[in-house]
Amino acid sequence: MSELSLWICPVCGGILTESEKFLKCPKNHSFDKARSGYVNLLPVSQKHAKLPGDNPEMVRARRDFLGKNYYQHLQNTLCQTVKTYLLPGGSLLDAGCGEGYYTKKICDSLPENAVCYGVDISKTAADFAARADKRTHYAVGSVFHLPVSDDSFAMLISVFAPYCGTEFYRVLKVGSYFIMVIPSALHLWELKQAVYDKPYENQVKDYHLENFRFLEKISCEQKIFLDNSQDIQNLFQMTPYAYRTGSQERERMQALQTLEVQTAFEILIYQKEA
Ligand SMILES: [Zn+2]
Repeated sequence: MSELSLWICPVCGGILTESEKFLKCPKNHSFDKARSGYVNLLPVSQKHAKLPGDNPEMVRARRDFLGKNYYQHLQNTLCQTVKTYLLPGGSLLDAGCGEGYYTKKICDSLPENAVCYGVDISKTAADFAARADKRTHYAVGSVFHLPVSDDSFAMLISVFAPYCGTEFYRVLKVGSYFIMVIPSALHLWELKQAVYDKPYENQVKDYHLENFRFLEKISCEQKIFLDNSQDIQNLFQMTPYAYRTGSQERERMQALQTLEVQTAFEILIYQKEA
């Protein structure tokens, strides 16, 4: 049995029809599903590296850290927020879903008629996500060229993922919602204090976005306690500063045995303007 999906063909843009093992467009471009269930819709032209997105090590670090539920408060608040805004039977897209930690929980918390999609540019992440979550439809793809049809989602969420306003606007239905999660100024402050001589606060940008009406901000904060060095290293791997840290600072981080650290997130809710 095959059915129309919200995915589009990365070659011609036609709507993909989904069957058990593959997806196919009206022009017969065909895309096999991986054994875990995701489909790779990232065309070679958008593939700027051999392994685009987070590498398997980073994906594993994040999965191990999140798997211990240190960010469960964010997961729960996000589920509540989605339930508040998603209309019954609405479809949801997680743009930059990683290994699906938030996606799966959100999808599980919604009624059965809700349809969930997740896109991530990292194949490892999409594979992990699809293995753990059989209800959500996962694809490898770019948030800058989302492989989904126009005006098709009632909600789009972006959790620490790159923002692409024109694409988000294109795929959302008029009047539907966009939820973005960003770190607030003091997120992971004690970790930065322990590692850097001169820690800086995160820059929180102006909430204004073109073509979206800002509705509200929900703050989600909690201190977490990490009681082993592996978890601290995994957390550090997930941060953007992992890329730009010198060897001396890395040594300081690796020497940490325990850490009590502030987590602070902002959940921003927007509505697509007509
Ligand atoms: Zn096609």
